[in-house]
Amino acid sequence: MWVVPEKDIAGLMTPEAAFDAVEAVFAAMARGDARNFPVVREAIGHEDALYGFKGGFDGAGLTLGLKAGGYWPNNQKRGLINHQSTVFLFDPDTGRVSAAVGGNLLTALRTAAASAVSSKYLAPQGAKVLGMIGAGHQSAFQMRAAVRFGNFERVIGWNPHPEMLTRLADTAAELGLPFKAVDLPRLGAEADVIVSITSAFSPLLMDAHVQGPTHIAAMGTDTKGKQELDPALVARARLFTDEVAQSLSIGEFQHASAQKLISDSDVTAIGQVIIGNHPGRGDAEVTIFDGTGVGLQDLAVAGAVVELAKQQGKAVEVEI
Ligand code: NAD
Repeated sequence: MWVVPEKDIAGLMTPEAAFDAVEAVFAAMARGDARNFPVVREAIGHEDALYGFKGGFDGAGLTLGLKAGGYWPNNQKRGLINHQSTVFLFDPDTGRVSAAVGGNLLTALRTAAASAVSSKYLAPQGAKVLGMIGAGHQSAFQMRAAVRFGNFERVIGWNPHPEMLTRLADTAAELGLPFKAVDLPRLGAEADVIVSITSAFSPLLMDAHVQGPTHIAAMGTDTKGKQELDPALVARARLFTDEVAQSLSIGEFQHASAQKLISDSDVTAIGQVIIGNHPGRGDAEVTIFDGTGVGLQDLAVAGAVVELAKQQGKAVEVEI
């Protein structure tokens, strides 16, 4: 099997490779060639850790495997990041393990790639202003991908903890774009594309905040109970997601669905737009992509990085 250590991922994986891998796997899901398996997520009763795995099989890309890991809240004291994960790939012809790949940076890259893919298909024409809600670890990756694959002229941002906004200012500076911290009404009025990536458990962006043609990539809600958007905003928007069942159960749309403001058929998998089965934005003023994070995204970027590592002589071969 091949091992690609976490420390080598940054030098191997490109945003373009992540974008292409995620776009391709969303398309494979829409064609019925790829499916995610049920997610396992358990509190293990040790170190307050949440551990789980997300797996799947892409029969078009022939990628089989799982990402195992979770959240260890006490890791920071040990000088480690709290989210820890590893991707394992298996040969779909024989079941033999074929690769173990560090999954921490890949998770940030695949999550950022998903929102960038959604903007490619759903952003209003001529989008120039990027609005960022959230200033944690993921936010910098989100901004980098949005700017790389969009055509933004400036970035505005808001975060529930204002002291963290320096991350957004620094990232915008790195990308050569002006940045301004604003309040949510201004963010909703001025931004053409909004990326939200927080750990909120109650709505931050309200229906009244969002004005004019806008695309929102809601990326923070990946668990029951989390919430970033006003259900009334969800109810008036055209809705897209990575996987419909996951969006309605643990994603942002769980709330509007529970309140019967939307029905299951109101939510379209982004893959349907990618393969040309759905027109996407059409005449909608507001579109929302609910990025819940699926195992197939992890397998897609891990498969891509194994190929890059092999080409560049950086994959370590071990006997198991
Ligand atoms: P982080 O801990 O580095 O930052 C947390 C962010 O959420 C900050 O902006 C912080 O101000 C805000 N926040 C924290 N507690 C809050 C609260 N109670 N109410 C409102 N806001 C709060 O986290 P991160 O690594 O940047 O991840 C952000 C979110 O994205 C998390 O919820 C994480 O689970 C989620 N995530 C989603 C995916 C996906 O595929 N959809 C992938 C990775 C992470």
